[in-house]
Amino acid sequence: MKDKSEIMLADSIEPLLEVRNLHMQFPIRRGAFRRTVGFVKAVNNVSFHIRQGETLSLVGESGCGKTTTGRCIVRVYEPTSGQILYKAEEQEPIDLAKLDNRNLRPFRRQIRMIFQDPFSSLNPRLSILQIVGESLKVNRVASGSDLEDRVASLLKRVGLRPEYIRRYPHAFSGGERQRIGIARALALNPRLIVADEAVSALDVSVQAQILNLLQDLQEELNLTYLFIAHDLSVVEHISHRVAVMYVGKIVELATTEDLFTNPLHPYTEALLSAVPKPDPRLRNKGVRIRLEGEVADPSNPPSGCYFQPRCPYAEDRCRHEEPAVREIEPDRWVACHFAEELNLRGFEAIGQSMKR
Ligand code: SF4
Repeated sequence: MKDKSEIMLADSIEPLLEVRNLHMQFPIRRGAFRRTVGFVKAVNNVSFHIRQGETLSLVGESGCGKTTTGRCIVRVYEPTSGQILYKAEEQEPIDLAKLDNRNLRPFRRQIRMIFQDPFSSLNPRLSILQIVGESLKVNRVASGSDLEDRVASLLKRVGLRPEYIRRYPHAFSGGERQRIGIARALALNPRLIVADEAVSALDVSVQAQILNLLQDLQEELNLTYLFIAHDLSVVEHISHRVAVMYVGKIVELATTEDLFTNPLHPYTEALLSAVPKPDPRLRNKGVRIRLEGEVADPSNPPSGCYFQPRCPYAEDRCRHEEPAVREIEPDRWVACHFAEELNLRGFEAIGQSMKR
């Protein structure tokens, strides 16, 4: 893994993507006439930006809305409301949320997705040449021997042998399949990649190889990543900043170092306490915070702070008043009434390695 200082990014770099007040609601339909009886608020007033060349990670438990946010950005879903401002080269930012399919086409080439499951995301009946070359062919970028040359060079770039070009997905391991998925995402020279749980299905040693590959590609091609994961230990090594989501909302957003060493939201503290500590001397250090109760239902969230039924620090005010997302330091956001007063614990092992 690379040293943290190697991936620091200047604050002055302008955002490539800015998401403003994004909402995505899915109707709940019941009865013979499929009447709408409510809405699941999968993404609830989410705002963030990603700078050119930056990696922003979205982290949270299953169902917190992180994948839905990613899918809104690549416009698999049409958002209910909000803005997705994308800054194309030498153009003013354009709101992708408002574009129809025809007008979205040029931006679909610039914003690509890497999927979680390397086994199901590749069609087993297509060769690697067909899988990686599909977008080049459909967009009439290359054909014939030129297409083969391009696919071979993409395979080389992601660490696979070009001779594998006519093989089928079943002939590859999980890590190799994910490399094929990355080659497919790179085919049209994208600027922004949404990596949805891109390493979650892989063994730990293979995870590290894929994360290193993503970092190398970022340096080489000045790529910007929105990295979606449920595991904070994975994002620590690749992210410049981390946003923590809970029941459709961002509850904390900070630089990776700030978030790991000095969390300001109780939910972040609980997630950090669950990160496995690789050093056996640190395994018994710190107490794992076991949150009581279930994640709130996004179609019927609790009053006040959505986290209050599970929060060990909840007070009466939390049950009545929803905390606003506040910028309490430059580029440091949190949604908790008591963020300045709580003395929360960071991840000790990470804190030590960062001070080295
Ligand atoms: Fe906990 Fe209250 Fe802060 Fe919500 S606002 S995270 S319930 S202390």
